[in-house]
Amino acid sequence: MLFDTHDRQFNYVRLSITDVCNFKCNYCLPDGYQHQAKKQFLTLPEITNLTHALRDVGVTKVRITGGEPSLRKDLPQIIETVKRVCDIDTVAMTTNGYRLNEQVTDWYAAGLDQLNISIDSLHPGQFNLITGSTKLQAILDGIDKAVTLGFAEIKVNVVLLKQFNYAEFTHFLAWIKDKPIVLRFIELMQTGDNEAFFNEQHVRASLLQAQVESSGWVRKIRSSDAGPAIEYQHPEYAGQIGFITPYGDEFCATCNRMRISATGQLHTCLFSEEGLDGRYLMQSAEQQPLLEQWLITQAYNKKATHGLHEHMTGAMTHLAMLGG
Ligand code: SAM
Ligand code: SF4
Repeated sequence: MLFDTHDRQFNYVRLSITDVCNFKCNYCLPDGYQHQAKKQFLTLPEITNLTHALRDVGVTKVRITGGEPSLRKDLPQIIETVKRVCDIDTVAMTTNGYRLNEQVTDWYAAGLDQLNISIDSLHPGQFNLITGSTKLQAILDGIDKAVTLGFAEIKVNVVLLKQFNYAEFTHFLAWIKDKPIVLRFIELMQTGDNEAFFNEQHVRASLLQAQVESSGWVRKIRSSDAGPAIEYQHPEYAGQIGFITPYGDEFCATCNRMRISATGQLHTCLFSEEGLDGRYLMQSAEQQPLLEQWLITQAYNKKATHGLHEHMTGAMTHLAMLGG
């Protein structure tokens, strides 16, 4: 098992497979992806070696993320490898939905269990203003298609922004009345790149949380491989609601996850000061015992909490670098 000195166990890994993205979310990549010297992202054999090691040290859930993971042509093979070759119980993915409608059937057939789609507004104009994309309707159609396929879980992520979507809360709630999805409101996090935007747009989720608690929504019990959301259900709604509050008290105490960047750096926390390079241990199956020992040692040394309250955002300049 992966565990640390703060009574936490880690059975959940978020694996970035590219840092490239084709959206320009105003809180993440407002100027779009900046191509630098060509990067070599983890290859399928490296991902295979890594995931075998993860499974053997007790990881039961892997989330594929990015950047935008659907920009990788070998995405179905990656999903299939993580699920069927490496035998990970739950394979999840976070996507901006750009290729959802055309590819979701292939992802499902490859073994994807859970799908998270980011939608920051249900109004096409506002969605475009936030993300730079005109694809809202195709993404919504893709969600409807995904619902019919039988995924264990479909979640929609909304990053709360004071002036761009906070007022849309009741519209979002009406949207899930008959839709069996989990709608999660994420508090905007400060990153190395977005300080001014964060200071303007950050808004606590606590008022919305109080609102749902006083209108018949009941808090759900958290499963051991769940993400950081506090989730609620309501007898009159097909959908559920979640809140992700990185500035809340319990956020780090219940942490069960670590991250691996698209170039094979381990970040024990999203806000770590540095990525730890373990890629050289992912080159062959013979190195697996060494890779496992390395993962165990790094997990053990994980810090108790992030430094976000002190505006210390670590090595990460924006979330596309590592995945959410
Ligand atoms: N491109 C994919 C997407 O947008 O779903 C996957 C990567 S994205 C970095 C993962 C999640 O992080 C998305 O739901 C996104 O909205 C969220 N995110 C990005 N920057 C954020 C920030 N500064 N604060 C909170 N959430 C953020
Ligand atoms: Fe791209 Fe996701 Fe960042 Fe938006 S949040 S710019 S879709 S990586």
